[in-house]
Amino acid sequence: MINLCEISRAHFLGSEKGYAAIRELMAPRNYSELLEARLRPNRDFRIGTGNLENVARCLLVAPHGRAIEPGTTDIVLEVARLSRWAYYHFDGRLRRRNWEKLHIASTRFNEPTLLRLLPQTQFVLSFHGEGSKRGRTIYVGGLYDEGRRALLESLNAGLADLGVRALDALASRHAEEIAGRSPDNITNCGRLGAGVQLEFSLGARLAFFESLTRAGRRQPRAALGVLARSIDRALGELTRRP
Ligand SMILES: [Zn+2]
Repeated sequence: MINLCEISRAHFLGSEKGYAAIRELMAPRNYSELLEARLRPNRDFRIGTGNLENVARCLLVAPHGRAIEPGTTDIVLEVARLSRWAYYHFDGRLRRRNWEKLHIASTRFNEPTLLRLLPQTQFVLSFHGEGSKRGRTIYVGGLYDEGRRALLESLNAGLADLGVRALDALASRHAEEIAGRSPDNITNCGRLGAGVQLEFSLGARLAFFESLTRAGRRQPRAALGVLARSIDRALGELTRRP
């Protein structure tokens, strides 16, 4: 239920923040609320999984894929292809308003297929699209300190030439809201109790695809391969540890 007082308060917060707050209030609070809104799997949204024989090592997750946060599922599939990493994605398939109708916050994301996978995996690496246009930035969050360090190092080494930089979301004031620090965030719900969350700014995602429309995402740039190899390298390092 949308609370009108909250919406009017959101108006006063000013443009970008206010708009984000209103969208947040419109979005479903959990998976049952999404089903109650008569949204159906394989018609309005689709869940995809793969390489689950490797789920014990780690799990790549795009909970807001395709038309919800465009580019995130495509990045996950490219990383999964390299070393057969296990993956899960939840994709929006509506004609419009995918974010408002299908975006369940990461701290309340209780879709049953994912809930079954989380206790089977050591840690989660989740992929999100951050809405601001501020530069080509990947904010690296989540409670897994070693994981964050490995991803930051590998991403910055691989992507510096492309003008994309990875920042520690826990150390950046701007990124406080997307730092993925809650223990309820699906990122932190693997067996380790800590995972890594990547938030790609709009500008960063545009470095990997012609555009973020469906047609544009079908034409990845060579940079997508560089990104996937950088992530694969960090995951290799983290999962080889005893
Ligand atoms: Zn997201």
